[in-house]
Amino acid sequence: MATRFPVPLQFRFVTSAKRHIDLPESPCEVALVGRSNVGKSSLINALANRRQLAKVSNTPGRTQLLNLFELPGGGTVVDLPGYGYAAVPGREKAGWQAMIEHYLLEREPLELVFVLVDGEIGPTKLDVQMLTWLRENGVPHTVVATKLDKVKPSKLATRKRDLAKGCELDPGDVFWVSAAKGDGIEHLARHVTTLLTP
Ligand code: GDP
Repeated sequence: MATRFPVPLQFRFVTSAKRHIDLPESPCEVALVGRSNVGKSSLINALANRRQLAKVSNTPGRTQLLNLFELPGGGTVVDLPGYGYAAVPGREKAGWQAMIEHYLLEREPLELVFVLVDGEIGPTKLDVQMLTWLRENGVPHTVVATKLDKVKPSKLATRKRDLAKGCELDPGDVFWVSAAKGDGIEHLARHVTTLLTP
């Protein structure tokens, strides 16, 4: 699912960690979070214009870790574990949640969290919970709606309005992307670059 656009982000996978305190220092960082299957790996690959980059974070064992990528300027991107695996037992789920929450509240260089929401189905209950939690805790975040190509053009305006409303946002505040077709990828890549330029 590689996508061609002029300025891909030169991500380099650096490390995986169980706790944010084990991550390397960074001048500035953004994080990606979303339920499993939302299209997070595909988006990372599309932003980097590489097919297999996010495979590292999808490798069994790493899906439950914080995966850190670095850009040439030193800025970092952290891929957080996907939430909402139904099969995960309660105790393990609580462990993931604690890991994510500690990261989001305590990671000093964190500038912004991109919350990925499936553009085809809109925000799920878990997405809304995540957004509410981020708001309540004052963690800066932006919603990225994925799989734009799966929305029929005739339904797009309504879907954009409804998805934004479900997230309690204005439609203009949501980034829409298609990792499959490339739409919106360059715009998002530029935004990430701006955020990560120290
Ligand atoms: P993750 O679990 O969040 O990392 O999700 P993946 O990136 O593995 O994607 C989950 C599924 O959605 C896969 O079958 C992808 O091929 C599909 N997918 C991801 N992004 C897009 C997209 O932009 N368009 C379409 N049509 N499918 C996508």
